Amino acid sequence: MKKIIVAIDGYSSCGKSTIAKQLAQYAGYNYIDTGAMYRAVAWYCLKTGEEPLQAIEHIQVDFRHHHVCVNGEDVEGQIRTLEVGNQASQISTIREVRAFLVREQQAMGIAKGIVMDGRDIGTVVFPQAELKLFLTAAPEVRAQRRFDELAAKGEHPVMADVLADVNDRDYRDTHRQESPLRQAEDAIVVDNSQMTREQQLAHVIALFDQVVEA
Ligand code: C5P
Repeated sequence: MKKIIVAIDGYSSCGKSTIAKQLAQYAGYNYIDTGAMYRAVAWYCLKTGEEPLQAIEHIQVDFRHHHVCVNGEDVEGQIRTLEVGNQASQISTIREVRAFLVREQQAMGIAKGIVMDGRDIGTVVFPQAELKLFLTAAPEVRAQRRFDELAAKGEHPVMADVLADVNDRDYRDTHRQESPLRQAEDAIVVDNSQMTREQQLAHVIALFDQVVEA
């Protein structure tokens, strides 16, 4: 069966990584979370106080055992906070930071057989991807999911703040000058506001099978 590249783009907190992981497992593909790479650069800059332009001159961002690493240090457990997420959203507007990470991402796709999720995968990183999905869900639904995640981690989020954060991030992701989030012309939209995870997975697997069996 032919190996393909699956590009999954969409807004924050609409379940991209969940479906990407499940599909990668189904297909026996490698899963790459590009948001984790932006978060890793952001984490490094917050920790060291270095400017992003300076940092990308000497840091290395890669994955080891599915954990994102900066210069070999596993930072997976430290990047999923609101602070790092906001910083990631800021530094992802810088052209040089994007060029640095896009180069790495393209290298990871050379042998195909990958599922990659992010904001610009189907438009910039792999415009030639054989299957492109654009995930979306209503902002209120995404805010509720994120609220539940934070609460499960023992944090005490305020719903109005979480929703404002989702809206701010959507605005920044879609309005930035460098590679704004947009749907590729040949992407298939998956709105999962009203879908269970099982329904979504069945739908996406059917789309994947159609492409690889064609
Ligand atoms: O997906 P996640 O929330 O982990 O991504 C963190 C931030 O990194 C996002 O808010 C987005 O601004 C940025 N990002 C990006 N391009 C990607 C992946 C993430 O600009 N391919």
